[in-house]
Amino acid sequence: MFTGLNSLLVAFMPYLPKALVGLIARRYVAGETKEEALDVVRQLNSRGFEAALDILGEHVHTQDEASAVADAYVRLYHDIARMGLRANISLKPTHLGLDIDVKTCEWNLFKVLDAAAATDNFLRIDMEDSPHTDDTFTLYRRCQERYPRVGLVMQAYFFRSRDDLAGLMSSPLNFRLCKGIYREPPDIAIQDRTAINDNYLALLRQAFEGDAYVAIATHDQTLIGHAGELIHELNIPPARFEFQVLYGVPMEGRLEELLARGYKVRIYVPYGESWYDYSLRRLKENPRIAVYVLKNLFR
Ligand SMILES: Cc1cc2nc3c(=O)[nH]c(=O)nc-3n(C[C@H](O)[C@H](O)[C@H](O)COP(=O)(O)OP(=O)(O)OC[C@H]3O[C@@H](n4cnc5c(N)ncnc54)[C@H](O)[C@@H]3O)c2cc1C
Repeated sequence: MFTGLNSLLVAFMPYLPKALVGLIARRYVAGETKEEALDVVRQLNSRGFEAALDILGEHVHTQDEASAVADAYVRLYHDIARMGLRANISLKPTHLGLDIDVKTCEWNLFKVLDAAAATDNFLRIDMEDSPHTDDTFTLYRRCQERYPRVGLVMQAYFFRSRDDLAGLMSSPLNFRLCKGIYREPPDIAIQDRTAINDNYLALLRQAFEGDAYVAIATHDQTLIGHAGELIHELNIPPARFEFQVLYGVPMEGRLEELLARGYKVRIYVPYGESWYDYSLRRLKENPRIAVYVLKNLFR
């Protein structure tokens, strides 16, 4: 429906004024500083929500940069503990050096996971685009050998995801289920939106019929409804799942409704100085975001 508009937006993306991108970022980014983000988490906690903090950034290309990012995450775990916040951390492997090599990323992940363990907290490894999928699974498995409180993400648009999930479920698994944000080619990823939703629900059923813990990450109200029906049908206790959304996406009271049912709801809270690059990249990867923002601005 938005295809023509999408191509137009992509063509004009480099010329978008920073102020306009700032408008987009302000809605979806919790601030430039850690203090601002921790304050947002405090407010979310007081409204009954859990949080997942993410320092904006990806694709770092030097060891020093990757190591500095890992150190920032280590400090963040200690801040969360010191402030008694209900928040964990979600991070991108390329932010910890995956584009340099797997070993660098592993080294940094272990450093961050040491801090997670020391503060009795959890770390989720985000899933990026398909060139990083296999390496991310490898890293996850290595982390899981040493740290019990680590999880990852499955993207419902991939044909491979059901097999991947079956393999991962041979050990205890805590994963986030999302549709997938990157543009992937049709030989590896489902393109049809209804078929992606069908695969999402098939993966959710597969996880529930095994004993995985699932973070059901979507803003799609219909999909949330179908997930609720599946939870009811299979009589899945609230300790087996949580719902997740991105900070700033309007949900029209649905999140409060989920909380009232006794379900856990976690808000993904990104922050940091890289808000401009992040917002531009997100826009290029998925121009529909600009459409959502414009729609929401004028609502
Ligand atoms: C907590 C969380 C973590 C995620 N982690 C990853 C990850 O690690 N890897 C990955 O590939 N993808 C990740 N995603 C993104 C996900 O894969 C989807 O691309 C994204 O959530 C949009 O799909 P949807 O399920 O919300 O459904 P859609 O059908 O795309 O959207 C449903 C409705 O939600 C609204 N909406 C959706 N996204 C936005 C937005 N950004 N801004 C404003 N409104 C919006 C729109 O009104 C839309 O009509 C994550 C998503 C969430 C919620």
